[in-house]
Amino acid sequence: CGVFGVVGVADAANFVALGLHALQHRGQEAGGIVSHHPLEGFNSARRFGYVRDNFTSQSLMETLPGPLAIGHVRYSTAGSKGAAIRDVQPFFGEFAMGGAAIAHNGNITNAIALRRELIERGSIFQSSSDSECIIHLMARSLQRNIPERMEDALRRVEGAFSIVAMTRTKLIGVRDPLGVRPLVLGKIGDGWALSSETCALDIIGAELVREIEPGEMVVITADGGVDSVFPFRRQSPKFCIFEHVYFSRPDSIIGGRSVYETRRQIGVELARETPVEADLVCPVPDSGTPAAIGFAHESGIPYGMGIIRNQYMGRTFIEPTEQIRNMGVRLKLNVNRALIRGKRVVLVDDSVVRGTTSRKIKQMIIDAGAAEVHFRIASPPTAWPCFYGVDTPQREKLLAATMSEEEMREHLAVDSLKFISLDGLYRAAGEASGRNKSCPQYCDACFSGEYPVAPSDMIEKGFQL
Ligand code: 5GP
Ligand code: SF4
Ligand code: MG
Repeated sequence: CGVFGVVGVADAANFVALGLHALQHRGQEAGGIVSHHPLEGFNSARRFGYVRDNFTSQSLMETLPGPLAIGHVRYSTAGSKGAAIRDVQPFFGEFAMGGAAIAHNGNITNAIALRRELIERGSIFQSSSDSECIIHLMARSLQRNIPERMEDALRRVEGAFSIVAMTRTKLIGVRDPLGVRPLVLGKIGDGWALSSETCALDIIGAELVREIEPGEMVVITADGGVDSVFPFRRQSPKFCIFEHVYFSRPDSIIGGRSVYETRRQIGVELARETPVEADLVCPVPDSGTPAAIGFAHESGIPYGMGIIRNQYMGRTFIEPTEQIRNMGVRLKLNVNRALIRGKRVVLVDDSVVRGTTSRKIKQMIIDAGAAEVHFRIASPPTAWPCFYGVDTPQREKLLAATMSEEEMREHLAVDSLKFISLDGLYRAAGEASGRNKSCPQYCDACFSGEYPVAPSDMIEKGFQL
């Protein structure tokens, strides 16, 4: 998901709509905005579909007045498929001291247990979302102001959360102690912005101030400054390495590093680790493009656009049903026959999850007359589900969970299939000496099976580590 918030500018909701549009790659199912106006109070609008199809109408935007607003773009994670509008964020709740609205990116790993406990104690849930627990925990807290209630609430929450929240007068940003999901602070005129990624600061002309740190909570008022507290026990950070590989936009900056540059460097590492004789390096667009550029540069094999992407389709993986996903590949990608014919082709993609995309693309390339197909993948085999906010399927559906690399190669029926090593990936992400095995610098659970936070709900449901 993507979260965005602005305080201290006229008609903040318009800025939030722009920010969410720039974060659309983080969630395409639905979006919502809550604003606050000193005279008109809280207002909210939540809609299915793209930001540009909903939050551009003047009549809708006029219902969201005020100098303070937050928003969310939704991408449903496991267990919450087929969303109802009541599951679309931000969530707003009225309780002592005026209430609050929150937008959450990540996944709470003890949400089922928390929900059970809250319902037993009388909370009335409106949605099926894990994020709603936070509002109820805040409502029950005995602290005397909302930021402190939020600290209280979040100390009970396990898992991944980057949150943008608002009270009647304050914009609040928090990251979980591991800092799994991104969150940055920007300055716009006299106001402030919080965003999942820097690309959304760019679109509104805000300047990047800094990242919110893992375990940090900032409380921002329009006229005052930015107050910072660290409410949680300090832990060693575990930012999601898959944000670098796929999830973030390549024009964003993470940890002072360009996402594009990291992806290009993954391609360089891949070419070094798994060289191959070939005539053409093609990306699977768009997610494989920077790595393919790096691969071509390092290997000296010419780069070409052997697959053309229809720009009017969204991200395939994020389409919730299997059927739509299956159609999606052909609706979205087509082969550039004239370029491919007779060539030994290296195809570079970011990841293999179920293998459905790769199988279809391989077939399209062969049908177009390619002589050989060599897959190079910009991440290690995805063998474990993510419980921290990226929607990977159940373990059984992950190709790499049930097959060896050679079996996967046979299954995809390609001439070769190679993945970047975990160390190579860490080097590309700026860790010169690779992955620190005793304390990895990132979360890489979907590749390594080492979960930095025990997924307690899933363990209760029978998931085996
Ligand atoms: P597959 O067909 O192997 O299931 O899907 C792999 C494709 O899904 C890759 O091309 C990748 O770009 C895309 N993808 C989109 N979202 C995600 C995600 O959340 N996780 C993973 N691992 N791949 C994703
Ligand atoms: Fe990111 Fe994978 Fe960790 Fe999920 S499991 S947070 S996708 S690195
Ligand atoms: Mg892709």
